[in-house]
Amino acid sequence: MSAMEGPAARGGIDLGGTKIQAVVVDEDNTVLGDARRPTPTKGGPPDVAEAMAGALRDAAAAAGLEPAALTGIGAGSPGQVDRSAGTVAHAKNLPGWDGTFPLAAALEEACGAPVVLANDVQVATDAEFHLGAGREYTSLVGVFWGTGVGGGLVLGDQPWHGRGAAGEIGHMVVHLGGRRCPCGRRGCVEAYAGRSALETEARKRHEKGEKTRLFKLMEDRGRTRLTSGIWARALGHEDPLASDLIDGAVAALGAGIASVVNLLDVESIVLGGGMGVRFGEPYAERIRAAMQPHLFNDDRPPLLRVAELGDLGGAIGAALLVSHAARAAA
Ligand SMILES: [Zn+2]
Repeated sequence: MSAMEGPAARGGIDLGGTKIQAVVVDEDNTVLGDARRPTPTKGGPPDVAEAMAGALRDAAAAAGLEPAALTGIGAGSPGQVDRSAGTVAHAKNLPGWDGTFPLAAALEEACGAPVVLANDVQVATDAEFHLGAGREYTSLVGVFWGTGVGGGLVLGDQPWHGRGAAGEIGHMVVHLGGRRCPCGRRGCVEAYAGRSALETEARKRHEKGEKTRLFKLMEDRGRTRLTSGIWARALGHEDPLASDLIDGAVAALGAGIASVVNLLDVESIVLGGGMGVRFGEPYAERIRAAMQPHLFNDDRPPLLRVAELGDLGGAIGAALLVSHAARAAA
């Protein structure tokens, strides 16, 4: 691998509930190196920051670069991100992250390059809008079906953040008084479709005696969580509990996405996230069918496409933060 000359290479880190994905890209956003690490399940924010820096160092090594040679590093994080302060607060799904942590400073210290932070879902939506499945459109909704269900909006070529917290499609209510959501409320899309909520429900029903191979598959593969790969395997075996729960997830996503379309009439929906990307087009087709009965204007559904940047989308989007920041500073 050849070392790059000049200031073109940028880093991107996507901090997810299950894994940390890092990339190093050139000025055309071509991936020069990538690496991933599991998200720590114990410890606290400094441990997560160290794992993020480790993934970035590995990606830089794969690109034949030192992290300090990067123009900058963008990082997408869950939780409340204060971009100007470089802090992340209340990142649920991450260990011990109840308070506010100076993530940008910790990463700068560990990597030796400037760091820009943004919300992970906004970053992934931005990436698909600029470089991926949404690049031909001026309005889209990004639906990130993973540990939770996140959403990002682009309206009239501009990202829509509301007062900072827009796009929570996972917490649209699809069943009044329905299943308990990880957010503590009831009947949200995420209560039926989020990987974490699906695991809780599967465990509960398995303990009550329902037969399933889900947990056997998890143990055989040395996992401690039901990953999207394990769900896909169980569905491949036509596991009845897995099939029933995923049917419920598809129904909830269809109702939730159709409701967003009824409100905003966007041109396209981009389906991403660990589950969305793993299940791909066959499940995109099922979600289109599940949307249809809930669409008010049912003769012209928007296009629903699987995220094109796949698993690397969040990290590539994070690297875009650096070029955006450079443009804003120029
Ligand atoms: Zn909720």
